[in-house]
Amino acid sequence: MTTHLKPGVVTGKEYRQLIAACKEGGYALPAVNVVGTNVLNAVMECAAKAKSDVIIQMSNGGARFFAGEGLPDQHKARVLGATSVAQHVHLLAEAYGICAVLHTDHANRKLVPWVDGLIDQSEMYFEKTGKPLFSSHMLDLSAEPLEDNLKECARVLKRLTPLGMSLEIELGVTGGEEDGIGHELSEGDVGNPKLYTQPEDVLRAYEVLSPLGHFTVAASFGNVHGVYAPGNVKLRPIILKNSQDLVAKTHDLNARPLDLVFHGGSGTPNNLIREAVGYGVFKMNIDTDLQFALAHAVAAQVDKNPRAFKYQVDPDNQKPYKSIYDPRKWLRAGELGVAERLEEAMRDLGSVGKTLAQ
Ligand SMILES: [Zn+2]
Repeated sequence: MTTHLKPGVVTGKEYRQLIAACKEGGYALPAVNVVGTNVLNAVMECAAKAKSDVIIQMSNGGARFFAGEGLPDQHKARVLGATSVAQHVHLLAEAYGICAVLHTDHANRKLVPWVDGLIDQSEMYFEKTGKPLFSSHMLDLSAEPLEDNLKECARVLKRLTPLGMSLEIELGVTGGEEDGIGHELSEGDVGNPKLYTQPEDVLRAYEVLSPLGHFTVAASFGNVHGVYAPGNVKLRPIILKNSQDLVAKTHDLNARPLDLVFHGGSGTPNNLIREAVGYGVFKMNIDTDLQFALAHAVAAQVDKNPRAFKYQVDPDNQKPYKSIYDPRKWLRAGELGVAERLEEAMRDLGSVGKTLAQ
């Protein structure tokens, strides 16, 4: 039976139905980090055009940037910026006719107050509307011992469940520039729980968290944030399958009981994306490739009309350049660049034409 959902922000039972449809249909959704309304609107435009559902998320830095770098209280800026993104999507997703999942990205121990501040916001919103502001949040305490990680995840999940919200956790560390690891990954590291998630840890997480609510797992299988020269990293999606199999076997569950998340999706070859999706990945984070798509498209505008970005009126021939430096021209070009690259990601993930929105 095909599930249909009302366009808008998808939370609670509907979010779980959306994940189930992804896994059953053998596709995944791109999760896009937004830092402003340009990329945000480009994502909604692309989702509507490609008839794909989509996940909109922000990092703590992105949330702060959305509120504005001029806001001096950084904690407040993180909370209000993310809240502003959420309100924007609640207002507009339905108008675009799309189903959007709203999520926040990595939060380490220092950023737990950010997540708690956002749950406060969802509680207030829930009181007024019966819905939370966000579909889910992420806690990334993967740098800490497993039991410390899970204890805090359990505390936060207990706050989320009554609101119909989910929690994304991380087991094992995604490498990359922002994490300070990744370049030194090598063949011999498969047993290293820091770099490659151990199935036993996933089983432990399942046992602690599944009685408390709905959670998803960002597992490390050699994935890194950012895009690097080929050869640095060995992706091993089989780790995802091994985790699924261990949990299913131990608890006598259907195949692929876990809802998995693929961090650091930018720059991943298509065959490895397909393999990971086949093992129950329903969400792939794509940030770096879209950052580049935006910069690339804006740069093309500047390259094409360099004088319009230097002079309001050309000193040589008195030509006015207002129609070129109008931000709606070059920012729009950036939006189209993002939308085009995102549609390619949706094709890679198999989500084009699969929207549940009706
Ligand atoms: Zn990540």
